[in-house]
Amino acid sequence: MEHHNKKLYAVINPVAGSCDAETVEQELAQACAAAGLTLECHFTSAGESDQNITDKVRQALRQGCVRVAVAGGDGTVAAVGSALIDTETPLALLPVGTANLLARELNIPLDLSLACQLAANGKKLRHFDAMRVGRRVFLSHISLGVYSKIAERTSRASKRYFRQIAYIWNALPELLSGRTWRFTLLVDDREIQLRASFIMVANVGGLGAAELRWGEDIALDDGLVDICVVHARTLRDYLTLADSILRGRHKSSPKLSYYRAARRVKVATPHKRVPVRGDGEIIGYSSVEITLLPKVIKVIVPEPIDP
Ligand SMILES: [Mg+2]
Repeated sequence: MEHHNKKLYAVINPVAGSCDAETVEQELAQACAAAGLTLECHFTSAGESDQNITDKVRQALRQGCVRVAVAGGDGTVAAVGSALIDTETPLALLPVGTANLLARELNIPLDLSLACQLAANGKKLRHFDAMRVGRRVFLSHISLGVYSKIAERTSRASKRYFRQIAYIWNALPELLSGRTWRFTLLVDDREIQLRASFIMVANVGGLGAAELRWGEDIALDDGLVDICVVHARTLRDYLTLADSILRGRHKSSPKLSYYRAARRVKVATPHKRVPVRGDGEIIGYSSVEITLLPKVIKVIVPEPIDP
């Protein structure tokens, strides 16, 4: 027997990137009506914690919603994704975030109306990995070092309106300070001591700018997490690094080294003020312990186009 009132639960962050919350709600309502779904929207508020968002989604799951959609930045997506770990309920990504990193990675249409139709009707799922830190879960990137310090200096408002300029302006003194830190890196059971200006633990390859990628073969559903270590110090180093990244020759770059973990990654530095950044926000300082959760979230993706 067909269930009536099957529900799609949507979490919409009204201040994320290009998002106009009303338009998102209208497009979703149309797509849901056409697919025979009812729609319930939760609009996040400025001070709302990630935990509260996760709890809201869990509640909707208990009430039997059959799909969950999220329109927001990386942080909101991670908060919603946390609730869906090890459940059968699929997640739909609506591309309204500043970078749309995950949406691009999964070929989700960047057109809002098409993305809403996919959210309501899509059948094809990709099971993707997540990174757990304490009780929180991250889907894209966890980083320590220079890049994280840049993010710490760049406020939310300036990120939104003057994003590119703000990043570059804030990056300059940080990059040219030539700071490096001593790190202990634990990759599964292997311990490595190194000096680096930046360590990126990446579940997703995209860097969030143009088509640039952190590495050559980073996949979000291979059960592995990629660790990209940046050794650049001087302006010349950074230019060499930029050149390797632009050419897609990460592995041969003298300024980069790569590691892969299947279970866990631990990064620690004795310096107290090195921020740890998870999916766009500061989540701690100086150390982080990441457990890889393989294939735990089901994301709705487009059907492959027949050749
Ligand atoms: Mg991977």
